[in-house]
Amino acid sequence: NKKVILKNYVDGIPTETDMELKMGDTIEIKAPKGSSCFLVKNLYLSCDPYMRGRMRDFHGSYLPPFLPGQRIEGFGVARVIDSDDPNYTPGELICGITGWEEYSLLRSSNELQLRKIQLDDAIPLSYHLGLLGMAGFTAYAGFYEICSPKKGESVFVSAASGAVGQLVGQLAKLNGCYVVGSAGSKQKVDLLKNKLGFDEAFNYKEEADLDAALKRYFPEGINIYFDNVGGSMLDAALLNMKVHGRIALCGMVSLQSLSSSSQGGINNLYNAIPRRLRLEGFLQSDYVHIFPQFLEHVKGYYKEGKIVYIEDMSEGLELAPAALVGLFSGENVGKQVVRVANE
Ligand code: NDP
Repeated sequence: NKKVILKNYVDGIPTETDMELKMGDTIEIKAPKGSSCFLVKNLYLSCDPYMRGRMRDFHGSYLPPFLPGQRIEGFGVARVIDSDDPNYTPGELICGITGWEEYSLLRSSNELQLRKIQLDDAIPLSYHLGLLGMAGFTAYAGFYEICSPKKGESVFVSAASGAVGQLVGQLAKLNGCYVVGSAGSKQKVDLLKNKLGFDEAFNYKEEADLDAALKRYFPEGINIYFDNVGGSMLDAALLNMKVHGRIALCGMVSLQSLSSSSQGGINNLYNAIPRRLRLEGFLQSDYVHIFPQFLEHVKGYYKEGKIVYIEDMSEGLELAPAALVGLFSGENVGKQVVRVANE
């Protein structure tokens, strides 16, 4: 059973050498009798920025750290091979927290952590990790529950071509908003404008003055900022928000270090007072009650051709460490997924 382990705790941005591919033990392809577990064959693994937080030696977060020497875990799509749990039958497909390894022994859990999924010819199976998974749900819950969007409003999305950002922008367009995205390469900017339907997009790495860039695209100001990056982009957005604007604090992937002393150089927060802004951090896991509604709506939009989804697929477990690390330098174009085995 090949697996990817964490070699050591990480301070700041992880590198490939913080992880290691181990040939692992020879395992019996069976769920032990009396274990109430089921054995799955992992097909696809998801790479997500939050996993960096689990690589730190920090126990105060909402998720416990990975342990050095132990396999990494994250969201995956897998097929049940053997089962000692009457609720799971060999052949069934699941999406949920699994190991970064070929085969994993799992236990049933709540719906956000583990759910059964069905093959659907119209939707690639791996989309359960992106469009129909945690990333898509984050976009949906964050946009509708935190941003309170209204038709005609102006919306800015950072890391806009990524797993979350690409859906936020498309939902905003469906809602009749004017939408601008920022991303870190020409290729991503082209995708935003020509494939994902954003009204405008810009490469933030080519802008010497982010405040000026936002003023160019939003001469009358921003109603909604969906913040995936924090740091200097958030600071510039604070100078460009309209009165009663809303900022959804989704993630701060630009912060190089996750230490509590690093606040990302926010100087313009005082603008929140005269402009009566609402800034709200959120975790998608708080919105589990709207997960069925999300699935129904987003599946429907996709099948009706109203939205598209871009995925970046790495081939093989051995490429998983590089794929994860690549999130922090913007290597991924769209949702980063790793194919571990053929369906
Ligand atoms: P992405 O697919 O967007 O991948 C990460 C992207 O971040 C990279 O491609 C890169 O895009 C950008 N990036 C990396 N480093 C920097 C940097 N230093 N400055 C600016 N941009 C950078 O990831 P996700 O869509 O999965 O996640 C987006 C955000 O949402 C993350 O902050 C994540 O933590 C957060 N999140 C929050 C959840 C919640 O419940 N609140 C749940 C899930 C995700 P580019 O090339 O454009 O720079």
